[in-house]
Amino acid sequence: MNMRKIIVEDNPSFEQEVYEFGENHPKLMITAGIHGDEVAGISIAYELIEFLNSTKLKNGSIKIMPKCNPVATRGFSRTSFYDEVDMNRIFPGNEIDGATHKAAKNIWDEACDMDIIIDLHCANQYSIPYILSIYDKFPKALSVINHLPLDNLVQSAGLRGQFFVESNYLREQIAFIIEIPSGSSKGAINTHLAKKCFEALKNLLIALDFIEGKTVNNPPTYYGEIFEIKTPASGLFKPIKSSGDMVYEGEILGEIGDFKLIAETDLKVHSIIPDSFVYKGDFIYSYILKK
Ligand SMILES: [Zn+2]
Repeated sequence: MNMRKIIVEDNPSFEQEVYEFGENHPKLMITAGIHGDEVAGISIAYELIEFLNSTKLKNGSIKIMPKCNPVATRGFSRTSFYDEVDMNRIFPGNEIDGATHKAAKNIWDEACDMDIIIDLHCANQYSIPYILSIYDKFPKALSVINHLPLDNLVQSAGLRGQFFVESNYLREQIAFIIEIPSGSSKGAINTHLAKKCFEALKNLLIALDFIEGKTVNNPPTYYGEIFEIKTPASGLFKPIKSSGDMVYEGEILGEIGDFKLIAETDLKVHSIIPDSFVYKGDFIYSYILKK
């Protein structure tokens, strides 16, 4: 293993860690912590580093940047206090607009010759875990994603400025996100789901012949984009369905007082809030539809 630290000069300066295993193609890059509060991804990245330290690479090379936005991570916040810029909206980054833009450019430069990029993020704590990819426009990614036993593949709208989106458009790399539900408080991790993601990545490394081992063949189900639903009524919301549930047209998802929230189509619950007092217009649940 080779470990480097890239210094981002500022006041104070900070460092981004780069861990490298092997040198040849195919080249796989794993990034985490572009959003500093999404710590499950960071913990999975460090677990992979530990795992690769004691595992022989058969083919190719793997580069891991576990803490892409380290100042933000130190404060368990989405953005860094230097500038409060959302790093995942400014790729490919630049040298002139300040610390977060420079840190983004470093990640972009490190990724220049990568074949596959997997960017680890966290969704809200009530979400299901899912893979996010622009697979309608860049279906090449499916040849990699199908080796991830992670249940759900969701279509991304491809909002520009995101690391994986720009890697698809500007460099034609295979690039996508894995979203793991966050823990229930700052710095908290859903260990069960983080473990599931780690095992899925290990399965991918075996299937793509980076390492030796036995694979499982359990590709994710393909879904369209996420639909977010806001409550049409105010009051105490009581969910009846849970995240990950299949709900059929006409079934009740939850209640707000006498108001019954009914599914208008067959759907899978992507995320649903717990018993909560809500006001008209607040987010209550999101769903996905099979492609
Ligand atoms: Zn994120």
